[in-house]
Amino acid sequence: MSTYGFLGLGIMGTAMATNLIQAGFDVTVWNRTNTKCAPLVELGAKQGESAAAVVAGCDITFGMVSDPEAALSLCFEKGGVLEGITEGKSYIDVSTVDPDTASTVYKAIQNKGGRYLEAPVSGSKQPAEDGTLVFLCSGDESLYSDAQEALDVMGKKSFYFPLIGQGAQMKLIINMVMGTMMTAFAEGLSLGQKVGLQPNDIIDVIAQGAINNPMFQLKGPRMTEGMFATAFPLKHMQKDMRLALLLGDAHNQPLHTSSAANNAYIRAKQNGYGEEDFSAVIKNIEK
Ligand code: NAP
Repeated sequence: MSTYGFLGLGIMGTAMATNLIQAGFDVTVWNRTNTKCAPLVELGAKQGESAAAVVAGCDITFGMVSDPEAALSLCFEKGGVLEGITEGKSYIDVSTVDPDTASTVYKAIQNKGGRYLEAPVSGSKQPAEDGTLVFLCSGDESLYSDAQEALDVMGKKSFYFPLIGQGAQMKLIINMVMGTMMTAFAEGLSLGQKVGLQPNDIIDVIAQGAINNPMFQLKGPRMTEGMFATAFPLKHMQKDMRLALLLGDAHNQPLHTSSAANNAYIRAKQNGYGEEDFSAVIKNIEK
């Protein structure tokens, strides 16, 4: 059985690494803020001294950090992933980044004889805890195959797309649709309240029709009660909208609705809601 590294123990990384440990895998963890390693060490993980040391000591290492800047710095900075890559070592970045970032890391790792897979995930905190994420993979196909036992523990399904960057493209398109759905939903709830309808009635009516979906039913009741415990930070949602809009720009695709939604998230961030759940965008819309 392969040995696994896990770098980046935020909301998602902690849940995913926990599942690997609890499934009996040999796991070594590292996080920039090293206190976040303690709960995983208590579960049985080893703690690495640096990202490079984890990569060098494990067969396959996962990385789960905030954004393209973090993914690049995790790979290229002193003590980073690239330093630990030698022939036979493998790195799987499950962060949500743009296709250029995925491609840059892919080439650098390949140049050192390592294997790279981009594998951003669809699904949030609860699916990460339940091991029901969906992996959107591109890169080294042999690594996709070798990592399947771990992907199966952390997720319910994985896809492989042939060209590097396609995992990122798929993830950004999915999140662009999700972010836009959330602002439309928030506007509907907010308008409903202003005309005197009960928000829970709106959610119940939606539940009966073709526009129903698990996100509205999960987040809706919490939004009407003003509960925004963070599953997917609003600042990361805005990052994904921004990256999706850049993708649209690069491919000459107008994205009117998504642009408007992005502005709602930017405004929510300006108003201090960046660390709350992305559904907190309703707080701005209600104003
Ligand atoms: P998070 O809780 O904010 O965690 C971010 C992680 O990135 C932390 O471990 C942080 O380390 C690390 N980090 C940030 N900058 C870094 C740097 N320069 N070098 C090294 N490490 C760095 O975020 P999350 O919700 O787990 O999300 C992680 C990624 O998954 C993001 O790309 C997000 O878009 C994506 N995602 C999230 C969800 C979700 O529902 N939450 C769902 C799907 C995909 P510190 O602890 O030191 O700050």
